[in-house]
Amino acid sequence: MKMNFYDLTVDKLKEFLSEQNENPSKALILFDGIYRKGFKDFGQFGFSERVVNKLSAFKLDMPEVKRKLDGGDAAKLLLKLSDGNFCETVLMRQKFGNCVCVSTQVGCNMGCKFCRSGMLRKQRNLSAGEIVGQLMAISKEFSCRIDGVSVMGIGEPFDNFSAVADFCSIITEDKGLAVSRRKVTVSTCGIVPKIKEFAEIKAPVSLAISLHAPNDKLRSMLMPINKVYPIKDVLDAAEYYSQKTNKRVTLEYILLAGINDSEAHAKELSELIRGRDFYINLIPYNETDTEFKKPSYDVVDNFCRVLKENGVVATKRKEFGAELKAACGQLASVYEDN
Ligand code: SF4
Repeated sequence: MKMNFYDLTVDKLKEFLSEQNENPSKALILFDGIYRKGFKDFGQFGFSERVVNKLSAFKLDMPEVKRKLDGGDAAKLLLKLSDGNFCETVLMRQKFGNCVCVSTQVGCNMGCKFCRSGMLRKQRNLSAGEIVGQLMAISKEFSCRIDGVSVMGIGEPFDNFSAVADFCSIITEDKGLAVSRRKVTVSTCGIVPKIKEFAEIKAPVSLAISLHAPNDKLRSMLMPINKVYPIKDVLDAAEYYSQKTNKRVTLEYILLAGINDSEAHAKELSELIRGRDFYINLIPYNETDTEFKKPSYDVVDNFCRVLKENGVVATKRKEFGAELKAACGQLASVYEDN
């Protein structure tokens, strides 16, 4: 069976070429041709027939676009994978450029109560190439360059660790898509051992952690993973990541009306992270098929004000794609739906 070229990091491609008694430096030429020049087959490189024959071990497997929605500042693709499963990917047209939010699994087993994506049981992990394929599909369908990537779509990235680590390496390769390392963010619900492992491999990207509550009781109610990895362990792991990589970790906090959005919650959150170098990203809830509601703008502003008054660095995330069901926690990958 042929391997998918998009699954390969430069190092893995070099390894393959060396095993084939070919010069490993061809790996960078291949990345440049496929990702930058848009070559569609290995015959376009001007390599000898011998080399082309060896490269026929690979296919260039792209997901099939089944639905395309464009709502101005956000757009969404529903993609069909080679085994018939679906995944969704979102383009956000931001001030700094085009940012793509990718999915890492078909479904998700983490069961966060506010998340529509989490209502779909995990079917399987996506390969690195299937995650790369989402960027390639966005770039092709919307004729755009990719300036930033959020690994925040359907799935828990650290439940698919090696594929996500390879994906980060592939897309930040200078000779390939060359997405700036500063503009790639991996977001986890807080799988502590994997946060530490991610710090060890020094994947040169940013880390965001979904916190969503200022205490364990509330967080365990919203996010079952908290029963395994409570808040203190998650924050300690995040600090470890900061120290190892020299990058400040973002804590994501979805504001749910009447659940975690009071002044008392804001004060408790400020206390929780006092003395730690985190940055809070507030996300007003995007309503979907759950019992949760979005708070008013006043409540969101007030929450942010209380954090700032207590010395916390906090911002409100600009909302993208809610009308396309493309916002955080709204992705579902259901072909018949939407
Ligand atoms: S928020 Fe993320 S980790 Fe939680 S259920 Fe949704 S996709 Fe999974």
